[in-house]
Amino acid sequence: MKFKRLFGTNGVRGIVGKEMTPALAMKIGAALATMRKGTIVVGRDTRTSGQALGSALKAGIMGGGCSVIDAGILPTPALQYIVRDRYAAGAMVTASHNPPEYNGIKIVEPDGTEMGDMETIELESILYKGEEELARWDCAGTEYPAPQLVNDYIKGVLSHFPPGLGEGMTVVVDSGSGAGAFCTPAILSAMGCRVLTINGEMNGRFPGRMPEPSPEGLRDLVEFVKSSGATFGVAHDGDADRSVFIDERGRYIEENREFALMVRMMCRRRRGMVVAPVSTSLVVEEVANNEGTGMDYTPVGSIYVARRMKELIASGISVAMGGEGNGGLIYPFHQFCRDGAMTAAMMVQLLSEEQKPLSSLSDALPSYYMIKDKIETAKGEEVIRALGKEYQNEKMIRIDGVKIIRDGAWALIRPSGTEPLVRLVVESRSEKDAIDLHRELRGLIARSVKK
Ligand code: MG
Repeated sequence: MKFKRLFGTNGVRGIVGKEMTPALAMKIGAALATMRKGTIVVGRDTRTSGQALGSALKAGIMGGGCSVIDAGILPTPALQYIVRDRYAAGAMVTASHNPPEYNGIKIVEPDGTEMGDMETIELESILYKGEEELARWDCAGTEYPAPQLVNDYIKGVLSHFPPGLGEGMTVVVDSGSGAGAFCTPAILSAMGCRVLTINGEMNGRFPGRMPEPSPEGLRDLVEFVKSSGATFGVAHDGDADRSVFIDERGRYIEENREFALMVRMMCRRRRGMVVAPVSTSLVVEEVANNEGTGMDYTPVGSIYVARRMKELIASGISVAMGGEGNGGLIYPFHQFCRDGAMTAAMMVQLLSEEQKPLSSLSDALPSYYMIKDKIETAKGEEVIRALGKEYQNEKMIRIDGVKIIRDGAWALIRPSGTEPLVRLVVESRSEKDAIDLHRELRGLIARSVKK
């Protein structure tokens, strides 16, 4: 089996000037133009290195004979929306939630999904073997600036909601100075919400907070939600494909609970499977089961979720929604990728339908206790083998590492794809059971590493 060397589950990413250089961006552009003939849309988030890397990427694409539409700074889901069914491919210069010194490139397929594993391996092979096909003088590509295309995405999101749905709601948007700074306030305002912003100026130095919307980074948002009496607060990561929420009391809504609330609303509209990675909390499964449907689990990575949703639908199986427990949610009636602004708009819909505050909706969900841990070891495969043997008589899923499933509890052990460590997640209805299972697994992992 071949493995990806350069690209991770979400594209190429690295520190600018070290792993991520204009020279690499140009080679990626030329390799992409070798694989996908036609016009390629390029976008970027707000990072300071975006113009340098984007220019190199575009040069590679045009040198490879494809024309470029430069959509400027926009959210990743906006680029995916623009590409879908209209262009040969897309390339987004972003490092998503990573700190400002990082940047990267995400490739988008003509159907608007992120490039899958096999195609990425092909692209890497072209790049490593130096097999980029460069165009003759009379076939070089041309660049067309098109910053207005982002409006198609805004209109696309708005088309799913009745006018005036957000009237009477005040929403605080914290885009973290990232790519969502324009779209999300524009969408929520058009829905009738009164919109207040924090960290609303695009700035690749991310002066207000880091691009990861962590509870620690959102303290200012929490204070602003409370002092303004807002209906809720929403925060994005750097490229605005994820949304996390603050309730009207200023409390962070854990992302699996956000997912569960959306699952309930979506299943009531259209019963269908819920697709999510094996690392997703049982709160989502319990809500799906209560609505009379079930889960379809995938490996960890939004691309696997999006692809599986498409596969199920193509085989005639209804899908209500998909997503990850990190605020990256996918609505099949909209598009097959995580979408931050769409999720913010869906929250307006949820609160409008339920006529209850977000705090009480979240508090009414079942509670689970989750422990996340990592163990440094290069022997990931040995650990997985040992645990597979140890728990062979228990219910298990082996699509990504080992997931041991018990009544009201589970544990997932998977080696990291990029670092020498094993990730361990344990969840249970009871705190004590979670602690016991975590201790048991740590012991077993330590023993299997020593052998
Ligand atoms: Mg992201």
